[in-house]
Amino acid sequence: MKRFLKLTLISILAVMMLGACGKEKVGGGAKNVDAKIKKQDKIIFGVKNDTRLFGYKNPSTGKVEGFDIDLAHALAKEMLGDENKVEFKEVTSKTRIPMLNNGEVDAVIATMTISEERKKEVDFTDVYFQAGQSLLVKKGSNIKGIEDLKKGTKALAVKGSTSAINIREKAPETQVLEFENYGEAFTALKSGKGDALTTDDAILYGMADEDPDYELVGGTFTEEPYGIAVKKGNTALVDKLNKALKAVKDSGKYEEIKSKWIKH
Ligand code: GLU
Repeated sequence: MKRFLKLTLISILAVMMLGACGKEKVGGGAKNVDAKIKKQDKIIFGVKNDTRLFGYKNPSTGKVEGFDIDLAHALAKEMLGDENKVEFKEVTSKTRIPMLNNGEVDAVIATMTISEERKKEVDFTDVYFQAGQSLLVKKGSNIKGIEDLKKGTKALAVKGSTSAINIREKAPETQVLEFENYGEAFTALKSGKGDALTTDDAILYGMADEDPDYELVGGTFTEEPYGIAVKKGNTALVDKLNKALKAVKDSGKYEEIKSKWIKH
């Protein structure tokens, strides 16, 4: 009888443990970022702090501002009913995927191109902005376009960006110097460390606005569709973000945000 009781107890315990594991998978497991957002009642967005017009920490206010920031607020309003239910953490082009994967941020909205390579590591929402790679040079430069980046020239790019990969393919003779962020890359251009800075046109316009001695040349030579990235497998969260994105577009809020920041 004792043995029977013991066996029954063990079976009950085993069933309970299995149940708990099952719940973990469906519900609040660490991998389920949608459930995490519900619990914390805010979305932790990874955003740029060094990229004018998209995600830029304004030194005079100490606040991050830009297109990505305003869009993140609008999405939070759709998803959690309050545009202030957000927290912003700084990411760079290099750190954004690792920070998503280690759970430091729930979603990345940071001038991030949807690419096949990146899709192996993270999931993306629908496109929310269309950019293209271009070049920024000092006015009067001999570099008028990608075809001028020949042997002996130097192009400046940021680590972890598609721009650093694309430029090697499109201008194989130029030497590519890589920096941690766009602030550093622009400083390097200004101090003559390279002939052209290369990244998305929308980002370069922000730099040209800041310093009118610099201009974009040669038009765009790639397509850079921006998406919001989430940890791989979080389909429910991608669906919610896409629904929110659609609502923000349908209400006219998206156009309002876009025209506030994007003038070119
Ligand atoms: N959109 C490009 C990328 O995702 C360049 C901008 C950036 O570095 O964030 O890599």
